[in-house]
Amino acid sequence: MRKTLVAGNWKLNGSSELNRGLIAGITAGLGAASGGEVMVCPPYVYLAAVAAQLAGTDVLLGAQDVAAEDGGAFTGEVSAVMLADIGCSHTLIGHSERRTRYGDSDEVVAAKFRVAQAAGVKPVLCIGETLEERESGVTMEVIGRQLGAVVDAAGVGAFAAAIVAYEPVWAIGTGRTATPDQAQEVHRHIRSIIAGADAKIGAELQILYGGSVKGANAAELFALEDIDGGLIGGASLDVAEFLAICKAAAGT
Ligand code: PEP
Repeated sequence: MRKTLVAGNWKLNGSSELNRGLIAGITAGLGAASGGEVMVCPPYVYLAAVAAQLAGTDVLLGAQDVAAEDGGAFTGEVSAVMLADIGCSHTLIGHSERRTRYGDSDEVVAAKFRVAQAAGVKPVLCIGETLEERESGVTMEVIGRQLGAVVDAAGVGAFAAAIVAYEPVWAIGTGRTATPDQAQEVHRHIRSIIAGADAKIGAELQILYGGSVKGANAAELFALEDIDGGLIGGASLDVAEFLAICKAAAGT
């Protein structure tokens, strides 16, 4: 039986004071929602402070991105070894905002996936199609290409220590969620690609859904066969909404 995970992607939001309030609210409220895993992904600059605030709780800490290189002359970058050093267990890789705004190609995403794993930081590989791609009927090809780039670079065995997040780009921050049928169809496809190469790894792979998940739609999505929780943007900055989503995941 796969565990559920709800991961909050705080993006470029937060302050020391706001983060303290969010963490206090989440950790206090989670007692009632135990049963699934919960993670927060603050901006780099706050990771160490949030790690300290999370000490002694079950809430996991993730970064939003990682350098594709291990170290050296890469001004402004943060390496996977550094993330591990300050207590990050996970990192997002290939979020659509990184792919579209910062030029993270499939190859760069695959390189980031590999350096994260090598440092013992579990990658949460984000993949998803744009609206144009969905309307052109190439969703499954796009998913196959984005996932295939990492399988080719890292091998399917690497997915025994990784998570995949399906995030249709048209659903991120738009208030427009994929229908349960749309989401389940792509999640099943992702699992079948991995299971086609290794049945056990495919069956055990956690696949999260992301894209305008809220307390009101989380339970319906998380009840689907191949959806194992969510990657949450906007709603992760609202304690009550985030806790409602965690509760929905814990109940599945
Ligand atoms: C995200 O940024 O990964 C995301 C899913 O955002 P939102 O929940 O706001 O759509």
